[in-house]
Amino acid sequence: MTGQSIPFGRPMIDDREISAVSEVLSQPKLVHGDRTKDFEQAFAAFVGTEHAVAVSSCTAGLHLSLWCSGIGPGSKVVVPAMTHVATAHAVELCGAEPVFVDVESDTGNLDPIQLDAVMSPSIDTILVVHYLGLPCAMDEISAIADGFSATLIEDCALAVGATYGARKAGHLSTAGCFSFYPVKHMTTIEGGMVTLDDGALADSIRRRRAFGYDSHPDKRKAPGIYDVVDLGMNYRMNEVEAAVGLQQLEKVEGFLETRARNHRRMAEGLASIESIRLLPDAKGSAASSHYCFNIVLESDISRDEVGRTLNELGIGYSIHYPKAVPLLEYYATKYGHTRDRFPVAATLAERSISLPVGPHVSDQDVDRMVEGVRDAVGV
Ligand SMILES: *Cc1c(COP(=O)(O)O)cnc(C)c1O
Repeated sequence: MTGQSIPFGRPMIDDREISAVSEVLSQPKLVHGDRTKDFEQAFAAFVGTEHAVAVSSCTAGLHLSLWCSGIGPGSKVVVPAMTHVATAHAVELCGAEPVFVDVESDTGNLDPIQLDAVMSPSIDTILVVHYLGLPCAMDEISAIADGFSATLIEDCALAVGATYGARKAGHLSTAGCFSFYPVKHMTTIEGGMVTLDDGALADSIRRRRAFGYDSHPDKRKAPGIYDVVDLGMNYRMNEVEAAVGLQQLEKVEGFLETRARNHRRMAEGLASIESIRLLPDAKGSAASSHYCFNIVLESDISRDEVGRTLNELGIGYSIHYPKAVPLLEYYATKYGHTRDRFPVAATLAERSISLPVGPHVSDQDVDRMVEGVRDAVGV
């Protein structure tokens, strides 16, 4: 071992979050408070949307976005084959059917050509995932969606601060869903946000986030008196989480700059190795939020062995993702999916490895990782 180990992800918590949390806990308002509203406003301003609705996770946000836009039994929703299982689960939770589409081999993003090939009037919604932070080909995908009057929703779990032309991820479709899980770009411990311009949809998401109540607790004529106008969940964000989120949002530009710098340094260090392929951090109008540094190993290199070498060197890594989603047991069994229909996603799942570039990673760490990868692939 040379030096301390470098974890794949580490939440960047300091005294500011700790005192913000203490402040919340020293007063009685733990939910339904101003911090959640302030965090929503600040996050909407960051993304550039009219509205933002804080929720308990990105999965909750995806579920609410689909559900409140009318997705239910009988609906079909396009889901890229390469994503976190949450994207597909949100569709299943609505009782709808995910239609999996393979991804582009250079970016891991939903492939517009294959999307076009599966589109039909029976598809209601297209869920795009900005894979590892690089926005999808939204011009092409939006044109296809418009042609079939399909709704477009973004999974922005790894795309905080990513851009497409002049717009940010989360403002490229009907609704964008973000994750604040501890090792994402910023954290609220657990938590998520839906960003959108459509006020009626925002109201519906707010209502269904909290049991379908007709009124917010602060606006009731008398305590405990309410009616319920909708079916709803309890998907709220609490005040502790929102207080952490407000502090994290103030740091996020700095986090993004460090990620970009680490990513560039790693790309320079690894550019000349022929046996690995690097995913680009920009394509067309899209610019990544640099969630991680993804390497695709050519076929004669064993990923298990590379992983073992990195482990011995104290270098943390992650796999995105262990299987193409349609090939996970739940989906493969339910729908009879096979590998030959999703060769690109399956290959990325088998052959790629993700290294950390987060704000906890120093220049020296990057240099150690570059050396470690060279060792691991034998150059
Ligand atoms: C992490 C992640 C999710 C799930 O986010 P939670 O906040 O944990 O629900 C969904 N989609 C993608 C692409 C993710 O990376």
